[in-house]
Amino acid sequence: MIQLTKLPTKVLYRKIAVLTSGGDAPGMNAAVRAVTRYAISHGVEVYGVQRGYNGLIDGQVEKLELSSVANIIQKGGTVLKTARCLEFLKKKVRKEAAALLCRDGIEGLVVIGGDGSFTGASLLEKETGFPTIGVPGTIDNDIAGTEDTIGFDTAVNTAIDAIDRIRDTASSHERTFLVEVMGRNSGFIALYTGLGGGAETIVIPEAPQNAKQIHETIRRGIDRGKSSSIIVVAEGKTVGNAQILSKELKAFGYDPKVCTLGHTQRGGSPTAHDRVLASYLGSAATAYLLSGKSNGMLGIQKGAVAFVPYSKVIGKKKISDPYVLKLASILAS
Ligand code: ADP
Repeated sequence: MIQLTKLPTKVLYRKIAVLTSGGDAPGMNAAVRAVTRYAISHGVEVYGVQRGYNGLIDGQVEKLELSSVANIIQKGGTVLKTARCLEFLKKKVRKEAAALLCRDGIEGLVVIGGDGSFTGASLLEKETGFPTIGVPGTIDNDIAGTEDTIGFDTAVNTAIDAIDRIRDTASSHERTFLVEVMGRNSGFIALYTGLGGGAETIVIPEAPQNAKQIHETIRRGIDRGKSSSIIVVAEGKTVGNAQILSKELKAFGYDPKVCTLGHTQRGGSPTAHDRVLASYLGSAATAYLLSGKSNGMLGIQKGAVAFVPYSKVIGKKKISDPYVLKLASILAS
């Protein structure tokens, strides 16, 4: 269970804004709800910015009331919409965005997103002094400085549900399946999906495998009576990693089927875990921001909510624990 630590009680601001940016993740709505309701209950006005940093530039900013965030805790995606905003890469544009926020009397900004979104927030704060605070929201769980991110648990559960279904057909037809899950630079989704779904082996960017290695694993399974196999593959740099491996496995006499889960992993109602995580992190980020703490994100460290400066997050690599991969392999043998 995640531990909610004591939150600061000082309230220095009267008006703050919140946005979601980068890839959407289930639980972002629960975070928006937490930010809004925590702030309003402490006498602070909250403004919702539409479409990530685009809304800051175009002035797509609307006041949120308690009722604006009603009935969204269970919804996937983000009601504020999200986008990638290339304009925000320009210093001049970030300066204009800060000026617009100040013009509207907004004193701080909560950014719900990933590493890229925090880079934008950190630059905005560094260059203009405008206070920002981050809430880690990404299905990939690839943000340094936090053990967990909003959306990861839901994505893993979605992928495991798919694996369970695929296993039914794989065992009926005595087939090998390659299931491709999301994860470009880190294999967290693949690792947890593979472990939780009982996959025969897991291919992740941190520990790539070639067709021969996979063949040897399948072979060991066949030798002890297995008639079907599920291989979980992280998508890697280019989507289609599983297709490539499938072609290569043909040389070893298999005819594997490929199932790419793709964007199905992004959608859906957030799990209880993600709703609680988002409620904790959204509230904590708001409490810290209102107390004057900024230039960092709220994350989970040693199982508890903690403030982490951007300097320990942005551009830092977070890779999965190699022992989890080893354990998955032991348990699948
Ligand atoms: P994520 O936040 O999920 O990592 P992205 O990397 O796409 O997603 O970043 C989301 C947005 O954050 C970008 O579209 C851009 O507006 C902003 N951003 C990302 N990198 C930078 C950067 N180096 N400078 C300024 N803004 C950035």
